[in-house]
Amino acid sequence: MDGTLKPVLKRQILLIGASLGTGLVVSYFFGFLVGLAANIAVLVGIMFYMRRRQLRAMRSFGFGDETAGGYSGGRVKLKYVCLACGQEVKGAKCGSCGSNMKKPLF
Ligand SMILES: [Zn+2]
Repeated sequence: MDGTLKPVLKRQILLIGASLGTGLVVSYFFGFLVGLAANIAVLVGIMFYMRRRQLRAMRSFGFGDETAGGYSGGRVKLKYVCLACGQEVKGAKCGSCGSNMKKPLF
């Protein structure tokens, strides 16, 4: 490290290094496969963490969660049916029985 790295990048490298170290220690004590699984789990966790940070950054540029996730609530129109009485539900509650339980129809 020559100190020219950005703090964020440095922290990410540190996180990945720590996860690799954890994987090595775990595989030393519990065997290779368990260590590998633990390592993958930690890496996936870090990837989710970074993705969430990216989403937050994107939101500050004006993109919502829906656009970032590739899902647009405006284009896909879902119909809901009441779980209690089977009637089509428009809005938050069932119009005929007032139940909150509903399931989407595709
Ligand atoms: Zn109902």
